[in-house]
Amino acid sequence: MTTSVVLRGSGVSPGAGYGPVHVLVGAIPEPAPGSRYDGEAAAERKRAADALERVADDLEARGAKAGGAAQDVLGAQAMMARDPGLEVGVAELIDEGIAAPRAVFEAFGRYRELLAAAGGYLAERVADLDDIRDRTIALLTGLPMPGVPESAAEPYVLVAKDLAPADTALLNKDLVAAFVTEEGGPTSHTAILARAMGVPAIVGCAGATSLPQGIWALVDGTSGSVRLSPERADVDSLLGAAAAREAVLAASMGPGVTLDGHAVPLLANVGGPRDLESALAQGAEGVGLFRTEFLFLDRAEAPTEEEQEAAYRAVFDAFPGGRVVVRTLDAGADKPLAFLPPSGEEPNPALGERGLRLFRKYPEMMGSQLRALARAAAGTRAQAYVMAPMVATVEEASWFVSACHDAGLPNAGIMIEIPSAALRAHHLATAVDFFSIGTNDLTQYALAADRQVSGVAELQDPWHPAVLDLIALTATGAATTGKSCGVCGEAAADPTLACVLVGLGVTSLSMGSPALPWVRAALSRHTLTQCRTAATAARTALSAATAKSAARNELPGLADLGL
Ligand code: PEP
Ligand code: MG
Repeated sequence: MTTSVVLRGSGVSPGAGYGPVHVLVGAIPEPAPGSRYDGEAAAERKRAADALERVADDLEARGAKAGGAAQDVLGAQAMMARDPGLEVGVAELIDEGIAAPRAVFEAFGRYRELLAAAGGYLAERVADLDDIRDRTIALLTGLPMPGVPESAAEPYVLVAKDLAPADTALLNKDLVAAFVTEEGGPTSHTAILARAMGVPAIVGCAGATSLPQGIWALVDGTSGSVRLSPERADVDSLLGAAAAREAVLAASMGPGVTLDGHAVPLLANVGGPRDLESALAQGAEGVGLFRTEFLFLDRAEAPTEEEQEAAYRAVFDAFPGGRVVVRTLDAGADKPLAFLPPSGEEPNPALGERGLRLFRKYPEMMGSQLRALARAAAGTRAQAYVMAPMVATVEEASWFVSACHDAGLPNAGIMIEIPSAALRAHHLATAVDFFSIGTNDLTQYALAADRQVSGVAELQDPWHPAVLDLIALTATGAATTGKSCGVCGEAAADPTLACVLVGLGVTSLSMGSPALPWVRAALSRHTLTQCRTAATAARTALSAATAKSAARNELPGLADLGL
C-alpha cells in the first residue's frame, strides 16, 4: 500500500468499496435576513416557483420509484410543495425586494408556525415542511441537496454523521459503494442496515464529515480504514481480495450444519417484504427476526390492520414450511414513532418506555398487530412465531404469551435483551414457548454502553466474556425446559462468534442476509466439539479481544475464509 491519507473507524460490514465521497448534508444554513436580489421581480418569482415545482416533481418521482407506503408519504409532501398559498406567500415577499431564498425561508416560517399551532397530525407535518424548504433553498443557492443522492454516475461512498432508518428507506443499494459514519457503534442501526444491504461500512470514523465532496475513497469494511485518493494498484488489490473471498462464499449453500452434522438453522433478519429477495438468494432457511417497526417508521399514523396483514403474509409466504419469527413493535429509544410517544421526557431513552413497555401502553396498537399477525398466519404454510422485545420480568413474559395465545398465535416467545432476563432465564423459560437473544441490546445493557454513542463503541462488543456468560445462562435455561434458544442480534453475523454461540448451546442463528454464506461456511468447517472448546476458551478470557483470539485459535477452518 502507498501512503495516501487514511481515516480509521470500526469496520462493521465486511468487504471493500471505492467511489467518490458524498457527505450527507445536515441542516441548510438560514439565508441572511434582509438579503435582496438584483433584477426583475418577475424573474425572481419565477426562479422561486420553478424551484418549488422541481422539488415537488423530485419528491413524486422518488415516491413512484419506492412504491408502497413511501409513495403515499412523498406524494403528500409533493402536494405540500405545490400549495398555492405558499407560492403566493413567497411571491409577496419577493415583491417587497427580498431575495428568493430568504423569501422561501420566511414564507415557510409563517406556514410552519400555523401548522405547529394546529397541533396533532398537522403539527407532525412540520418536519416535512422543513424538508421542502431546505430542498428549495438548496436549489436556489446551489448548495448540495439534503438527503441521499437519487442518481449518480458511479456508486458513491455515503458519508454522514449517523444514518437513521428514515434517511436510508429510499436508498438505492446499487448506487452505494460503502457507508462511513462519524458516530454509531457496531450495533447501531447504520451497522445493521449496512450488513442487511451487503454494503461495506465503517462507523465511529472521526473527521469523515469534513471530507471534501467528491474526493475518491477506498473503504475497507473489514479493517475499518478509509484511504483517500488511493493509487490504482491499492484499489485493485483490495477489491480483488474482496472478490476472491466472495467466490469462496458463493460455493456455500444448503442448511446450516457443523462439520459433524449438528444442525443449526440459519435464518434471516428482515425489515419487511423488500428484504425477502436477498434472504432467499442467500439460502435463508426462514426468518429469525422480522423487525415489524420498519413498516411503521417514517409515517404519521400506524399502517392499517389490512396493510399489516399483507406485509406479514408476504413474509410468511416466502418460507412455506419454514420458521418465521415476527417481533412485535419495538418502538422507542433509537426507533421513535411519532404516533407512539413515551409518557414524558426521557433523559435516558434506552432505559425508558420502549419495546414491550411501550406496546402495553397502547392496547389498540397491540390488538391490531396481533390480529393482523393471526390472520396472516392462519392462511400460510410457514411456522409462525411471535416474540416481544425488551422483556425484563416473568410477569411481562407471561402477560405477552397469554395475549398471543388469546389472539390465536400459539408460538409466543420473548427476546432476551436485558440482563435480568438472561440471569433468570430458567424461570422465564417456563413461561414462554421460545427465546431469541438480542445481543445488540444485551451488550448495551450488560456493559452500560449506549449503542448510539460512538464514544463507548469499544465497550459495545458482544465478545465480552460477561455477555458470553449471559448467553450461556440463557441457552442453559432454555435447554433445561426443552425450549429453543436462537440469537438474532448482530453477534450471529460474525462467523467466528457464530461458532462460539453454537458452542454455548444456541440452537439457531439469525442475521442480515449477506452474512449467511460466511456463517454457513464457518460452521461447516468445524465440529460441535470444536465450537464448544472455542466457547469455553472465550469465556475463560479476561477481555473481548482476548476472548476472540482464544476462540479463533480453536477454530482453524476460519483461515481459508480470510478471517
Ligand atoms: C438486538 O437488540 O440484538 C436486536 C436484535 O434488536 P434491535 O437491534 O432491533 O434492537
Ligand atoms: Mg433490541
